[in-house]
Amino acid sequence: MLNYSANAICDLEQRVYHPAMTLKNLSFQTPYLTLDSEFYDLTQPTPLDEPYLISFSPDAAKLIDLDSNSGDDPDFVSLLNGTLIADGSSTYAMCYAGHQFGNYNHWLGDGRTLNLGRVNGWNLQLKGSGETLYSRMADGRAAVRSSIREYLMSESMHHLGIPTTRALGIIGSKTKIVRNRMEQAAIVMRMSTSWVRFGTFEYFYYSGKHDKLEMLAQYVIGESYPHLVEDEDRFYKMFCEVVERTARLIAQWQAIGFNHGVMNTDNMSIEGLTIDYGPFAMLDDFRYGYVCNHTDRAGRYAYSEQPNISYWNLTMLSKALTPLIDKERMQKKLDDFGAFIYPDAYVDAIRKKLGLSIKLDDDIDLVTDLVVALHDVYVDHTLFFRTLSRYDGDRSPMYDIVMEPVILDAWLIRYDDRLSHETRTQGERQEAMLKTNPKYVLKNYMIQEAIELAEGGDNSMVETLLNIARHPYDEWPEFERYAGDTPEECKNCGLSCSS
Ligand code: AMP
Ligand code: MG
Repeated sequence: MLNYSANAICDLEQRVYHPAMTLKNLSFQTPYLTLDSEFYDLTQPTPLDEPYLISFSPDAAKLIDLDSNSGDDPDFVSLLNGTLIADGSSTYAMCYAGHQFGNYNHWLGDGRTLNLGRVNGWNLQLKGSGETLYSRMADGRAAVRSSIREYLMSESMHHLGIPTTRALGIIGSKTKIVRNRMEQAAIVMRMSTSWVRFGTFEYFYYSGKHDKLEMLAQYVIGESYPHLVEDEDRFYKMFCEVVERTARLIAQWQAIGFNHGVMNTDNMSIEGLTIDYGPFAMLDDFRYGYVCNHTDRAGRYAYSEQPNISYWNLTMLSKALTPLIDKERMQKKLDDFGAFIYPDAYVDAIRKKLGLSIKLDDDIDLVTDLVVALHDVYVDHTLFFRTLSRYDGDRSPMYDIVMEPVILDAWLIRYDDRLSHETRTQGERQEAMLKTNPKYVLKNYMIQEAIELAEGGDNSMVETLLNIARHPYDEWPEFERYAGDTPEECKNCGLSCSS
């Protein structure tokens, strides 16, 4: 029963009638700038020529209480282009280091990104806004191609329930940049509750500036783990939470079939978010060892390696934290990550995809055998789980989507047996699975179609994909072709880091 006290009504009215902010009264705070100047570089953006709007995300706007029509306001383009400096904002690039493909690089940092500050708990950034102190030999720019990829995929991951940074909008321009070919430059406005990376800690550890390391840890606790602020054991507990959040994140990547492609420690979030979308891919046919980043010849960041690499990255973080936290305690937590934190998170995620509501000890075997079967039967990852969501004991719809039905049959016999231990009805299971296993994910070939149109001035498909991404579990008869198998010539293609 609702409590209609005077205060409640007042609260309710405030929530309902509170006018959303417009771009004019958007107000920023810059708590990161309270840290020492070594943590950042104060730099002005370099605007793009003839900027124009490509897309605006009303869902992301809601997070900062920004009017959902702001995309129609010319000021929005100016904000993204860095020519409208909002109240309280100062533009700064963050300093960080990182292990790239296993090798330590001390000189990374935001080479093409400028932070504007924080609004309503979200830190806003312009990616592609020109050179900073950390640009090294690069141009500080981002191509329309890679910006659309990051924009669409981060919004898509959010709607799939996967922790991620967000994106508020994207602008294109007439500015040309050199990549493998001449490309158009863009700026995407990214948002995150934290932009601190494992590599931010590494920078101060390897500089030998352990007082700064502590300052950073305090900042991270205040920003991302505020419930620990007063805790005497806060640094250790922060590390534990990073380990647990990273485990859950990677389990979700594996479950949805996401290959990040560049899991360097500078691309690992201290909040366990998916950050820095580069040559990522959603799996087409399930290939366990798939490597989306074709610069990654050794397959270090293959889909199958993501759990191991996250452990390695957490180990690098623990090393950077040794001046603050007892090494053995951190090692014990890392051991737990491998022994049960990650495996449990992964099996839980797959159990959910399989519609299993109770936990049985040997579920791990069912899940492991499923991975082997998926690899052997040649089936589209998303299509498999979506089709399984309607499974009613008739195997023919499952046979229709695989190349090796006999192999799948052996697993389905076990699945039937496992379902017999469930207490939910078939209808309840199917309903839950249809809300867990998306009908649509954004595959690279779909995003590529949108990019090619956008490069020719037609942004309609970016909008279409954004809408599909916002409702991944819905049926869209007009987009049925995106729900099936990836066209043969587009399957499991790789992308390069160049962006
Ligand atoms: P990434 O692999 O995209 O996460 O980038 C690795 C590092 O290179 C980061 O420090 C980036 O800021 C920097 N970087 C990548 N592309 C550019 C660019 N076009 N201009 C300046 N810095 C860049
Ligand atoms: Mg990066």
